Amino acid sequence: MNIPIPENVMQALEILGKNGYSAYAVGGCVRDSLLGNKPDDWDICTSALPEQTAECFADYRVIPTGVKHGTITVIIEKPLEITTFRIDGDYLDNRRPSEVSFTRRLEDDLCRRDFTVNAMALSANGEITDLYGGQEDLEAKLIRCVGCAETRFDEDALRIMRALRFASVLGFEIERETADAIRKKRQLLANIAAERIVKEFTKLLRGNCADILSGYREVIKMFLPIADFSADTVRLIAASPADPLLRLAILLSKSSAEDAEKMLRKLKYDNCTLKYVTLILESAELNLTDSRPQVKRLINKFGEKDAKLIADYHLYTGRFSADLHRSIVDTIDDITAKGECCTLSKLAVNGSDIASLGICPQNKIGKVLFSLLEKVMDGECKNEKNALVQLARNSKY
Ligand code: ATP
Ligand code: MG
Repeated sequence: MNIPIPENVMQALEILGKNGYSAYAVGGCVRDSLLGNKPDDWDICTSALPEQTAECFADYRVIPTGVKHGTITVIIEKPLEITTFRIDGDYLDNRRPSEVSFTRRLEDDLCRRDFTVNAMALSANGEITDLYGGQEDLEAKLIRCVGCAETRFDEDALRIMRALRFASVLGFEIERETADAIRKKRQLLANIAAERIVKEFTKLLRGNCADILSGYREVIKMFLPIADFSADTVRLIAASPADPLLRLAILLSKSSAEDAEKMLRKLKYDNCTLKYVTLILESAELNLTDSRPQVKRLINKFGEKDAKLIADYHLYTGRFSADLHRSIVDTIDDITAKGECCTLSKLAVNGSDIASLGICPQNKIGKVLFSLLEKVMDGECKNEKNALVQLARNSKY
């Protein structure tokens, strides 16, 4: 197969070659090209030491991005990462090598890579170095560790998450020995920083994740113990748009907003995720219809934008029919366009208006205002000062 190598990558490989070093495109770009997908970025590995690489590209802008690990970035049209062939030293804490050393041999660099499909190198003349059967595994759609799977997960437990992520994103299965080792070594995930797990998990949720979620639930429960893996939940996820936020909310839909928030905070999820998931879980307990007063209450509680997100969620999870969803969204838009009152700030009376009536103690004013707002939202009273004052006077507080 003739893999098209982008001009700038070709240029980098040739410059290193002319200077007497070996150089290859490696990893994800080779995998994706062989799959017929356009790679996002091209990584290059070389026998040149970082200083030597920098010398080769003296005419270009060079950024020493990770010299300790052998990586420098060269700008040829766009940034290209060039990394010296590496051997990882002994691993500490199941997550990082104690040291890296450089090597002149491509073979040494390939054997430290995680999966066979990620351990292939491509030379400038189009030759593929594939020492672990990566092409065969691509054909068979298999994720398989390079070397002994258990050892590889002992070295770096993030690879457990990467295996699940690649299987999901590529729609692959996980080879038997690798799958067994993932299950056996799942406790090691406790040693991995939450942010790194979450990053892989988010990518996983964007892929064909249903089989992975149900097949590896005990692994995912290591960091997301409150997730629900019932057949119904997994089916909803499979049928939902590939949006990680939405899918995470579905996965947590059987827990309370409070528990989910605690869990997501512990995993250091961003505020946007936190807000969305709690919003959805809180809305699950509400009585939601397309009646105008109900929709106004929804806007009152969550605001117009979030009210729509809630409506979308309940459409994807089957609680709303397409018609009901449409009707709720249209009603939200109509209420907003007409500027109808759904919030205390838009109510035609305020706290001091009520206080000056002398009809209730100071600490009840908020309650009076909210009950007036409810009457307005329910269409029982116009949002006009006189009418509202009248109503307040006639009510018992
Ligand atoms: P993508 O960038 O599309 O997510 P990728 O394969 O390029 O996929 P990266 O995380 O960018 O993945 O890593 C680049 C390459 O480095 C991988 O293809 C793999 O060969 C190697 N690699 C990355 N992380 C590890 C790891 N934890 N253990 C072993 N090898 C790894
Ligand atoms: Mg990459």
